[in-house]
This record gives sequence, structure tokens and C-alpha cells, in this order.
Amino acid sequence: MTVEGAQFVVQVSPWFVAGRPLFLLIHVLGIACFAYIVARRLVPLVRAERDPRFNQPLTRLARVLKFWLGQWKHPRYKTAGTLHILVFAGFILLAVRAFEVLIVGISPNFVTPGLSGRAGRVYDIVTDYAATVVFLCMVFAVIRRLVFKPARYAVPERYGKAHTADAIFLLALIAILMVADSLFEAAKAVAQGGQGQPAEMLAVLSLPWLLQIALLSAPLPTVGNLCAGAYLLHEVTFYFLLCYRPFGIQFHVETSLFNIYFAKLDREALKPVKWGVSDEHLDQVKSFGVKTFEDFTWKHMLDFYSCADCGRCSDNCPANAVGRPLSPRFISIKARDYTFQHYPMFGRPINGKALIGNIYSDDEIWSCTTCGACEEECPLLVEYVDKIVDLRRGMVDDGNVPQSLQKPLQALQSRGNPYGKMEKKKADWANAPEFQQFCHVKTLGKANGADTLYFVDSITSFDDRMQSIGRATARILDHIGENFGILGAAERDSGHEVRRFGEETLFMALRDANVKAIKSCGVRRIVTSDPHAYNALRRDYKDVPPVEHISQVIARELKSGKIKFNPVENGDSVYTYHDPCYLGRHNQIYEDPRDVLDAIPGLKRVEMGRSRDRSFCCGGGGLMLFYEPKEDQRMGVKRVQMAAEAGANVIVTACPFCMTNMEDAIKVAGLEGKMTAIDLAELADRQMARP
Ligand code: SF4
Ligand code: SF4
Repeated sequence: MTVEGAQFVVQVSPWFVAGRPLFLLIHVLGIACFAYIVARRLVPLVRAERDPRFNQPLTRLARVLKFWLGQWKHPRYKTAGTLHILVFAGFILLAVRAFEVLIVGISPNFVTPGLSGRAGRVYDIVTDYAATVVFLCMVFAVIRRLVFKPARYAVPERYGKAHTADAIFLLALIAILMVADSLFEAAKAVAQGGQGQPAEMLAVLSLPWLLQIALLSAPLPTVGNLCAGAYLLHEVTFYFLLCYRPFGIQFHVETSLFNIYFAKLDREALKPVKWGVSDEHLDQVKSFGVKTFEDFTWKHMLDFYSCADCGRCSDNCPANAVGRPLSPRFISIKARDYTFQHYPMFGRPINGKALIGNIYSDDEIWSCTTCGACEEECPLLVEYVDKIVDLRRGMVDDGNVPQSLQKPLQALQSRGNPYGKMEKKKADWANAPEFQQFCHVKTLGKANGADTLYFVDSITSFDDRMQSIGRATARILDHIGENFGILGAAERDSGHEVRRFGEETLFMALRDANVKAIKSCGVRRIVTSDPHAYNALRRDYKDVPPVEHISQVIARELKSGKIKFNPVENGDSVYTYHDPCYLGRHNQIYEDPRDVLDAIPGLKRVEMGRSRDRSFCCGGGGLMLFYEPKEDQRMGVKRVQMAAEAGANVIVTACPFCMTNMEDAIKVAGLEGKMTAIDLAELADRQMARP
């Protein structure tokens, strides 16, 4: 708004002049109320557990530019993403105008520095269009909510009432704000013209321009009053919105910038039991994990405030997709509702009950496979895996462990593997004479070293079917001339699932035993065929040599020429690659396995609709192979159906957990004889050209 324009408003509308004390009062009350509400909202964060998120400010700022200002994740959902980007851009552009409009009510000569003259006129034109776009987006969003009703916004009965009314109320308030702003501009321009003065130029076909045309024949006093009325409506709506937002999903407008700034930088690393308490001092910690609301960290509480209820996390959650009692969106919403009830605007906070059994159910928290799909999708970088693991730590600490998981946990404690098998049997797969005859696998120790350790882990060592992956991996390492060996009886389970299950002390015992054994054999690097072991060695262990997954080794040796492939056997088959969560989403290894497949002459490969960072979990993570969840369908069955829909009849994966689930699912889905599953190492071993 130009200086002339602002002064003119005062001239044409005595009402506007008389309204100044009222406008000032609205400003003071609006700002004071907002400050009070935000201060109250900060109370639980002050009482929460610590969480050190103040490091690397430049990296954090870069992420704010990417994820907040750049709206990086929004285009993953095309319609909703485009709407959000348009509205967000509109708000950013309109921020200065909104500020200026608020000020002119009490100081008509006010002009934002730098926005007088031509710059101001250009800015006015841009913001006329911005207000129009935001208004149209609101209308479209209301129609979308009411008519098209995207499934991901629905609220299942067990989670309470639908949030549609609240969403529409907020959309309508924003639309009113845009109309009030535009009407103010339009009436001002008409009044200027009516007084024979040069009228402010409005952007052609914008909302203010259309309203200007509609007002051209109105008497001047009416226009003046409309101008002042629109101003008052704008001011009241602005402050009402500001103070209403912290009571619902729109609070993310205020918190999202901070939520993204303080988001976890190393998303793949699991949160320690307590920040600031080292492993050696964990025995002094009175209570493990999250049991009451105040056991969450302040950042996790900020997550709850920041969730926009967009449903993208739950839309991609495999547990939700198969009807397990878990929908990550409601982990946030239920906690936020809890905060609002227990931290009221007036009076003292109300002490809450235990979260499990009151806010969350046991099954809900055990249903998670820690696949990370929710976090990958969330545009506001809300974290879930750490929260769920923290809640599990609390349950384990209270002895609340599902029946089906008690036996594997005891076996891990006593034998170092969830099957309860004798340690000395760990290397049986490698020591079978018919295998040793062609591929000698050393068992490493102090006196028997090697350059490379093949870390096999429990499932590949003990499961008869998965041992084939172990043998294929060993043959590949042998073929490329690697001086390698295994730990044999000295190897314990990597503890990856145990940690994600919430059993931190058992994990530490397994980890320490493995680190000792690895160090004693003096290897320089580690290779594994199990993404869970890979992730544990890379993220959960310290001071061990660098680790690679076998798919990375094969891809590298294809480039070096040490590995060459024969033309594919069964050339009529169509292959598809299933990204294991702990190779793909958690470690961003997407291309190496695909490069390996594409290097096999004649192999036909198709992508499933959900692949790479949107891969659909097979259901194997977080000790899930031993858990019997309540669900309508198995995740693996859904996954093989996706493969069939893509036109594939061979599923290639690179994880023994995925292989177990895929092979079971093929049987359950009735696809035996039509679909097969194979591990990448097995396929590479089968196709390798040998002298
Ligand atoms: S957590 Fe993120 S993805 Fe899930 S509903 Fe909230 S904002 Fe949307
Ligand atoms: S980690 Fe996976 S299973 Fe767990 S809540 Fe997120 S999407 Fe669902």
C-alpha cells in the first residue's frame, strides 16, 4: 500500500479515523493473547526430557531453506502438495502486506521501508494475485474436503471424531481474511477514483480488481464505510486466526519452522535411552524409556504441536495398511489432545496417567516395524521411530512384553540368538563338507586373521532356507579373491532388532561381545548380507571397521571387472526389486542392487508402484518375525500383490528377513508356481561367469 493510498483511506472514511482507538485495542489484545497462549503451550516443553538439538546451526538453516521455505516434500502428493505450496508462497508474499495493513489503522502514513514508489506498486500487484491464489486454493480445498474426501483424512472410529469441521472452519477463516484484504484494497481504489484522484492500480483479474469493478457504481460514502468495515474484518480475523491456531492442527503454521530447524540431523541413528547418560552409567537410570507424557523430550512434544494432520505418514505406514492398530498420525494427534487437556490455558498442569493403557495401547506400539516410511513422508519432519522405541523401552522396563516375544528374548540372553541354538552350530552352514569342498570359509580368531569379516547374523546362520544366502555370499567373496572369514561361535546376534524392540541392556551385551570378537581377529573391513546387521554395525556400534552390504561389493566388482554375468537363466521371467527398509530408506542404498540386476544380460526388470524411499515394508523389522500382531492381512502378502500388479513374477530382495516374508506371502497369496523370490546374492552367485 502506498502512502497516498493509506492517507486516502483516512480521508474517505471518518469511520476509519474514529476507529483508531478500537484498532489499537485489537492490536494490543491480539498480541497479548497470542503471547500468553504460546507461553502456556511452552510449559510442557520446559518440563520435558532434554534433547540436544542446538548443534550445527548452518546445516539446520540449510534444512529450513530446503524443507520449510523450499517445501521439499510437498510435491510427493501432487494435488495437496501443489495447493500447500501455493498457499505457503501466498502467505510468505502477503506477510509484509498484512503487517502494513495492520499498521495503517493506527498510523495511516506508514509505509514499509523499501516499498514506496515503484517497488511498492509492483509489490501491490504481486500481492493482489497472491491473495487471489490463496482465496481460490481455500475454495478448492473446501470442495476437496467436502466432495472428493481423500481417504487419508478420514478418522477411523477408534481414534475419535472426524476433523473435517475444524479443517473447514480454518480454511474459511483464511478465505475471509483474503476477501477482507481484497475488499479493503478495492474500496480504497474506488474511493480514490470517485474523488477524482489517481486511483491505485489493481492487478487485472485479481480478486481486488473484480471487487473494484463490482463497487464502481456504489455511492462514495458506502464505499468509504466498506473500506473501513473490510479493514476491521481483516484485523479481527487476523488476530482471531493467530490466537485460534495454537488450539488445533493449524499451530503448525507457527511451529513448523522451529520443528524443521530442530529436526534430527542423523535420522538413522536411534536415540539413546537418555541424552547425556553414557552406556556405562545407564545402570544409574531409575526408569527406562517413556512412560508418562513428561518422559518425552521437548522436541518430541514440539513434533506433536507441529503435526498438520495431513495423514501422509499413515497413508504410507504398512502397519496401518494391513489393519494393525497403529496409525502414526494418531500417535501425534492423541498426544497433542492429551497436552491440551493436561496443560490448560488457566490453572496448574494436571498430572497425567501412564501413557500405555490410557493414550496408547500395547498392540499399537508393538505393531510398528520401524520401517521409517512415516518419517520419510512427513513434510514437517516429525519423528516416530525414536518415540515408538522409547515407549517400548518403557514397556520392557515394566516387564510388559508380548508373550510371543518372551522366548526369543530369553534365547538371545542365554544363547546370543533368538532361536536358542547352540553357539557352536553357528558355522554349520559353512562347515558342511559338500560346501567347504568348493569354498573354504575360515573361522577367524586371534591366531587366524583375515582382511574381511563376513558378519552373518542369526537368521542367515540358523535358518535352513537363509543359509543359502550365506553360502552365495561366501562364494561371491571367494570369487573376487577376498581374504575373508566368519566369527563362527564367537558371533552373537547383531542386536539390531533387540534394540528397536526396546531391550537396550540386552542389545549392549550382544554388541559388546561382537565388538570384542571383531577386534580380536584384526579385520580391516566387514561385509554382511543382512541389512539389519549392516545398520546395527554402521549406526549402533562404535569403533568397528567400515561395513558394506554385499550388494555394494557386487556392484563395485562389476565395475572393476572381477565379476561378470552370464545371460539370465529363464529369460521369460520378469524381475522386480523390493527395497529392504534397512538398506533403502535407512541407508539410502537404492542404486547398487538395481545396477547389479541391470548388469545381467537379458534380465527384464520392472519397478513396483512403491519402490525406493516409498518401498512397502515386508513386515520383518523390530523382532516382528516372532510377533503375532492383530491384522487383517500380512504385509508380505500385500507386497507380493504389488509385485504381481507390476507384472513381475520374480521378486528380488537383499535381506533374509524380506526373503522369509516374501516366500511365506507367496504361499499365503496362492501365487505358488506363479511367483518366486530370490536374494540378490543368490541371483548374482547363480549368474556369475566362472572360469
Ligand atoms: S506426522 Fe507429518 S505426515 Fe503425519 S499427519 Fe502429521 S504432518 Fe502429516
Ligand atoms: S516406522 Fe513404519 S510401521 Fe512404524 S509407524 Fe512408521 S510407517 Fe508405520
